[in-house]
Amino acid sequence: MSLSRGKQIQFTLIENGLDFVLTAIKDYPINVSTEAEMKRILKYSVLHLSSGVELLLKSRLHKENWVYIFQDMNKANTQKYIDRDFVSVDSKTNIERLENICNIVFSENEKKDLEALRKIRNGFEHFDFLENDIAIETKIEKAVKAIINFVAKNLLNVVTLKDTEQALLDEIKQKIIEINIYSKELENLANEQINIDNRQKIIFCPECGKEFFALDDDGGKMKCYYCGWRPQDENDRVQVATKYLYTNIASGCLILDNGEQLPLYECPECGFQAFVIDDNYRKCFNCGYNPEKEEIAFCNKCNLLYKVEVPEDDIGICPECFLNFVIKD
Ligand SMILES: [Zn+2]
Ligand SMILES: [Zn+2]
Ligand SMILES: [Zn+2]
Repeated sequence: MSLSRGKQIQFTLIENGLDFVLTAIKDYPINVSTEAEMKRILKYSVLHLSSGVELLLKSRLHKENWVYIFQDMNKANTQKYIDRDFVSVDSKTNIERLENICNIVFSENEKKDLEALRKIRNGFEHFDFLENDIAIETKIEKAVKAIINFVAKNLLNVVTLKDTEQALLDEIKQKIIEINIYSKELENLANEQINIDNRQKIIFCPECGKEFFALDDDGGKMKCYYCGWRPQDENDRVQVATKYLYTNIASGCLILDNGEQLPLYECPECGFQAFVIDDNYRKCFNCGYNPEKEEIAFCNKCNLLYKVEVPEDDIGICPECFLNFVIKD
């Protein structure tokens, strides 16, 4: 018997959000036979997940006060709210308000994972698109975990879920378990292959973010054993480093878009322009040099990176500049 039609359709805000999230991962782990199917699944997965994330973040803000879900809170009024006739808060502002108004703490990784999703969504919505399929899948997985973690920590303590909402959440959790098992299998396979090929220098992949990227070693070619990504020119370490910056450091994109140079530095070990440095990452994508924070510094005279041999004795200039200084005198 088919459903009788002509009924009102209703979704609560949370139900709507969870439903989008579930729809985003319903075909996971992806197992299809054509590229066309794969492309379509990934695309709609990204779009649906983005909608789900926005709604769930918004639902927490809404719980605090409906005024906060207006992008411009000065324009908030009851009638517009009742008519749903307003521009609602964008995801960046949403997170800022959750932090500032609701005292919600997002870890750096959670923010990074949600930001990565936002970037791919923009790619699909506003530009043409080129990215590795496993990398997209991995980013979707991470974003799903980040948003469900948010729900568990920051939503369930202030709302009681309705039965329909709870059922959706349970289904999502079940899916996450399946996805975890699947990615664990992929990781095991990647590790096995790394052992077989005897690769030694493994770093975080600039494409998928997993620690499976083998830097060139003993004539081997650089590649990610998890997602398969490799630079166009097989030994182009600058491309790897640039890609790392592009995906991991938001400002890297801005710098690129302005046509300015990316912050790649000359490596104090090998002298190659492939050293990446940020708050918690220091690595040469040419020689693999991976110093601790206190082991390197920028020279106050020539501005190049140099190795700090003994931190207590360091005078803030590199050995070469020091030598020049001594010779001059
Ligand atoms: Zn990868
Ligand atoms: Zn180096
Ligand atoms: Zn110097």
